[in-house]
Amino acid sequence: SKYTREDILSIVEDEGIEFIYLQFTDIFGVMKNVAITVEELNNVLEEGIIFDGSAIDGFVRIEESDMRLKPDLNTFTIHPWRGNFGREARIICDVYTSDGEPFEGDPRYILKKACREAKNMGYDLFIGPECEFFLFHTDEQGKPTLNTHDEAGYFDLAPSDLGENARRDIIMNLKKMGFEIEASHHEVAPGQHEIDFKQDEALNAADKIMTLKTIIRVVAKNHGLHATFMPKPVFGISGSGMHINQSLMKNGENMFYDDLDRFKLSKTAYYYIGGILKHAKALCAITNPTVNSYKRLVSGYEAPVYIAWSAKNRSPLIRIPSNTGKNTRLELRSPDPSCNPYLSLAVILKAGLDGIKNKIEPPLPIDKNIYEMTDDERAACGIESLPQSLEEALYCIERDEVIREALGDHVYNRFVEAKKIEWEEYRNRITPWEIEKYLTKF
Ligand code: GLU
Ligand code: MG
Ligand code: MG
Repeated sequence: SKYTREDILSIVEDEGIEFIYLQFTDIFGVMKNVAITVEELNNVLEEGIIFDGSAIDGFVRIEESDMRLKPDLNTFTIHPWRGNFGREARIICDVYTSDGEPFEGDPRYILKKACREAKNMGYDLFIGPECEFFLFHTDEQGKPTLNTHDEAGYFDLAPSDLGENARRDIIMNLKKMGFEIEASHHEVAPGQHEIDFKQDEALNAADKIMTLKTIIRVVAKNHGLHATFMPKPVFGISGSGMHINQSLMKNGENMFYDDLDRFKLSKTAYYYIGGILKHAKALCAITNPTVNSYKRLVSGYEAPVYIAWSAKNRSPLIRIPSNTGKNTRLELRSPDPSCNPYLSLAVILKAGLDGIKNKIEPPLPIDKNIYEMTDDERAACGIESLPQSLEEALYCIERDEVIREALGDHVYNRFVEAKKIEWEEYRNRITPWEIEKYLTKF
């Protein structure tokens, strides 16, 4: 491991750290924090810290509420945006029950379990996410608005506006926290940005996604902006996705790569694709977990709608970026940044492994523009659609044994229960669109 307890104690002393944030993520993808002072650190590194699990959404009921956070020493990092006064660091924690067992409701544990299964088959999953988000202005009271001042588009170099400065500052902070940034650019919509970091082993990548989102929010706020990972904040322009690039590695070798194949894909890669396509609908409940997620999955904005793959085309659910050689990877384009990255990577991995275990052949790649095909043409090619609503995605996950098993009973039950309530709440609302459409007409 990267750090010992002694290492951390001495860094904390040398750097003058006063506060340590102990972090973990609830099943809905929200990061939780417990701050301790430096005086408590030694003890916490040794024994962890007890907290009330019933206070966290989707964790446990009152009677069984004592839980323990155990710091994962490898995740120790200084928060660079704090000045020299009251400096802070963070450590990501694993959640344990009062009996000292890993807690089944801890998303990080669910991902570790899936990775362990992959490892037993000889594979390590490597992940490179492409996180998109919007930067909006805040009003006089500091409340977020939907206004952006920039009119820039894809890869545009906007005149150094607020958003551009904020993004540079975000990148600087990420680098100081050890991120290797592959790319960062303006996305197609006004006020929309993307930051990609280098592929990393799945658990690290999930930790990094949570960290990235936190930093984006904090730094944006310091620039007077509001960062949002809501998938489709504005009708009529692109939404924000979080494409997930994935490769399976074995002893440092990319198991998706085969020089002899026409797409440079190995048999393993084909089966993995087969598995993901088979479970694509159920995956959405986890990778696209909000009512709003499904307003992004519509045609016309580069978001996927149909279940297909291609090595040529940007529109399908799975794309194989070309000319990547030994970096061969598949890009899953459905996930959005409102998802819980731990649970998402766990279910995606399990879907892929199911493909490998059961030798699931993927359908032929689709190189045509699927959006321009008629319903009949799509049906003739066997192309189905992704779920069109959270309700439909929940229906699909309830019928998918593999994905349910990946989550375990605890997470599955709490998640689906909460999301059904969320759907019901939405369904009962009367939207401005309905008023506009019907109030005077009828
Ligand atoms: N913003 C698009 C989406 O919702 C993706 C654009 C791109 O290809 O990077 O997925
Ligand atoms: Mg993008
Ligand atoms: Mg992409």
